Amino acid sequence: MKTGDARNIVYVLGHARSGSTILNILLGNISGVFAAGEISNYDVSGWKSDEFCSCGKKACECEFWSAVRQSVEPCLNLDSDELQSVTKAVDNWRSILPSKKSKAVTKLSDKYNQFAIGLYKAIFDQAGCDWVVDASKSPMRMHSLLRNDELSYYVIHVVRDPRAVCYSLNKALKKDPKGGVQKDLNGRPYLTTIKELYLSAFLSHLIKNKLPSERYIRLKHEDLVESTESVLVGLGSFLKVDCSELISRLASDGVLAQSHNVAGNRLRMQKNIKIRYDSSWLTEAGAVKHVGATLLLAPLLLWFKYPIFRKKRCE
Ligand SMILES: [Zn+2]
Repeated sequence: MKTGDARNIVYVLGHARSGSTILNILLGNISGVFAAGEISNYDVSGWKSDEFCSCGKKACECEFWSAVRQSVEPCLNLDSDELQSVTKAVDNWRSILPSKKSKAVTKLSDKYNQFAIGLYKAIFDQAGCDWVVDASKSPMRMHSLLRNDELSYYVIHVVRDPRAVCYSLNKALKKDPKGGVQKDLNGRPYLTTIKELYLSAFLSHLIKNKLPSERYIRLKHEDLVESTESVLVGLGSFLKVDCSELISRLASDGVLAQSHNVAGNRLRMQKNIKIRYDSSWLTEAGAVKHVGATLLLAPLLLWFKYPIFRKKRCE
């Protein structure tokens, strides 16, 4: 891995609904940092499905992503279907296991990286920044990218009280393309999310072990939204970037600007975002689900240093 390179990727690692979108937006408000969102989904959300960008335009009409596409497409030696099958293979969690070091896995990973790094470079050129945030979250993507040493990676592993994640994913969402929801989403059963949370924690731990200690940090979503200033001071020293202007802005009006994101949580489509803690899971999850999730998630709560018992708060 390169050190001291002028171009760096801030990779946001974690599980869905753990706060990666708000972290991406916050980082994108630091001078010299471009927050690109879930770049791993760009080929599907941006190219194939032409979804809405957070600037309000369709991806094909957005000046930023159109310019990125023009720069990447001539160098792309995979068609769309090939790219998706390579992505599917690399995104299989088994590909990350230490036993999986076959030539076939390496070859797929090389193809995947070629596209991913070409895309990163086009984003760097278009944004004119030395820092790009990739909030793709996937440990498998990070694992594949770490095989290549063309760019430097700083990993922020964002975690949230796993019971809040279960509650959030259990809620169904109605299709709202302009609002950032591309199709009706059924609520995910608690047990499915609990299994995924353990797997995500285990795979993220493998990524942590592959990185030098100064390139990995674990961040609680709750600290980010409740103690934003001190978290920003810590992130500034982790990334060696100056967050003072953003800290002053948050202290005065607290409003965050959006950049160009074509994939990710629906929060990316909101304007004038203010950071706030959503504690609805504490009151609305229901006693049976809450107690059951607490029992099943107790090892994870302890691992991430969350209290087993949480008080309901008045807001
Ligand atoms: Zn845009």
